[in-house]
Amino acid sequence: MRKNRIIAIDGPAGSGKSTTAKQVAKRLGFTYLDTGALYRALTLLALKNGIDIESEGELVNLLQQSKFQLQSQGDDIRIWINGEEATEAIRSPEVSRAVSMVARHPAVRREMVQLQRRLASQADVVVEGRDIGTVVFPEADLKIFLTASLEARAQRRLKELHEKGVEIALHELKRDIERRDAIDSQRETAPLKKAEDAIVIDTTELTIDEQVDKIVQAFRALAEQRRKSSDASGVKNT
Ligand code: C5P
Repeated sequence: MRKNRIIAIDGPAGSGKSTTAKQVAKRLGFTYLDTGALYRALTLLALKNGIDIESEGELVNLLQQSKFQLQSQGDDIRIWINGEEATEAIRSPEVSRAVSMVARHPAVRREMVQLQRRLASQADVVVEGRDIGTVVFPEADLKIFLTASLEARAQRRLKELHEKGVEIALHELKRDIERRDAIDSQRETAPLKKAEDAIVIDTTELTIDEQVDKIVQAFRALAEQRRKSSDASGVKNT
């Protein structure tokens, strides 16, 4: 039986998942796993190698032959693809535009789910993505679904990209985000969807600290509730 604790955070592009998940992990002393980074890494590799992103078989081959390494450093997560650092490259607008087409292939997702379960098996983790609470870890201890208005999500991405020196117009970003959300929500396999037992947090009007507080509090309340019920069953058994 699984011993490590898992917090699943899902939601659409730009809903604040990454920043929030990183901070929650830091506050609780958990490891952070960004599953979107893995889909992005495969997409970058496919684009670089001229692999057709419509070809499920070629993408799966590429994935099976590749090695992805993730490492957290301070507040940053760094990623290496076959030994070469790709931390910045996986966030480019080109990768963002193509990633949903790569992620919609069922066989690619099957491989990715296995990889993600392996990566999250060693420690207590905060796992962030689109299908974590529904498919990857349906038995997660706590499930969160983050949402925010399209305007707020596009503004956040714009700020992030501008800080990295990437020039892109707000309307372009909005269009890209809407398109990506539509593909992610409408695909047949593991679409972006709230798990039935997930707690929904609308982050449009919240600061990062407020989002993090809500999740940490929910997790602590759950832990306390479990402790009480195991104490109670202990009393009953004696
Ligand atoms: O979270 P991020 O925006 O980096 O994710 C990039 C893309 O990877 C998503 O738009 C989606 O197509 C795909 N993805 C997914 N399932 C996950 C995580 C990401 O399909 N668990």
